[in-house]
Amino acid sequence: MSPFRFSRWISRLREEALDLLFPPRCAGCGRPGWSWCPTCDTAASPVIPPVCSLCGIPWSKGGRCLRCKEDPLHLDGIRSCYLYSGPIRRALHRLKFHGRYRLAQALAVKMMEGWARFALEADLLVPVPASSARQRQRGYNQAAMLARALAEGVEIPFCPQALHRVRSTPSQVGLDQNARRENVRGAFAADPRWVRGKRVVVVDDVCTSGATLEACAAALYQAGARSVWGFTLARTILKTI
Ligand SMILES: [Zn+2]
Ligand SMILES: [Zn+2]
Repeated sequence: MSPFRFSRWISRLREEALDLLFPPRCAGCGRPGWSWCPTCDTAASPVIPPVCSLCGIPWSKGGRCLRCKEDPLHLDGIRSCYLYSGPIRRALHRLKFHGRYRLAQALAVKMMEGWARFALEADLLVPVPASSARQRQRGYNQAAMLARALAEGVEIPFCPQALHRVRSTPSQVGLDQNARRENVRGAFAADPRWVRGKRVVVVDDVCTSGATLEACAAALYQAGARSVWGFTLARTILKTI
């Protein structure tokens, strides 16, 4: 058995043990007996095509949205599965503070639907690296949890070692688009041994301005990646757009 298959087998075994000890609860509302209940599924707002060809926000006019025409993000594109609201927002809040792999798995199933909806392709899935201070505080990296569970579902290698932070960045909350870009510029570095010639998809929990994904992409292109897409569970639409 390959090490990859072995680790998947171990993780499944652990999940089965957890299921026996703690029956599943809905990631969105906590209701027992479901990992994602029909009420939350109905209440969530999926991003459905047509979307902006670059940043992936809902956009019915074809091609790029106004912001992307004016000031495009420098990466192949971003796609997000849901608007950041309702049960998706609550589920990510739960993941942030409880960090259970099963929660990530339930959300990764929703991301798999988005993956198919947007017909994404990749050779590697890479999570946005958490700043070490933030990760220490909280104990887990949500992006990595989602990316790992998604990678298992879509059967694409999960490669967290391909990208790392070279400096920690202050929170992006409250910053406008330009300040966000400035805040994360040069914050990441990628390892050419993993990414050269590869189609990389960078996974995060929420995308707001795309600045973080763009900074990740800059590092990945520099290390020789063939293409870089961002893929997130949720999407916040900035009011300034
Ligand atoms: Zn629910
Ligand atoms: Zn756009």
